[in-house]
Amino acid sequence: MVEATKPGVYRVSGGAEPHVVEIMPGAGARCDCGDHQYRGRQRDCKHIVAVHEHQMRETHMILDPTGWDAETPAGQALLDRLGLDETL
Ligand SMILES: [Zn+2]
Repeated sequence: MVEATKPGVYRVSGGAEPHVVEIMPGAGARCDCGDHQYRGRQRDCKHIVAVHEHQMRETHMILDPTGWDAETPAGQALLDRLGLDETL
């Protein structure tokens, strides 16, 4: 699970051990796991991905608390669209 410990800092648990992800606006994200140390420049580790998904869900909950579920096709389509917008 993902929980915010302070603004921009998230604790991601559920794996072998919890990790801390720090979101730096305009500068990407940082994680304290080994995967991020080795491959963070090429791709986000699963903890950072989990935090991004958590943020996206929270953002959408504020916009529309009832009408969105990531497990549905509509929710997946929305995720795809948000991902596309982010890369533009
Ligand atoms: Zn990580």
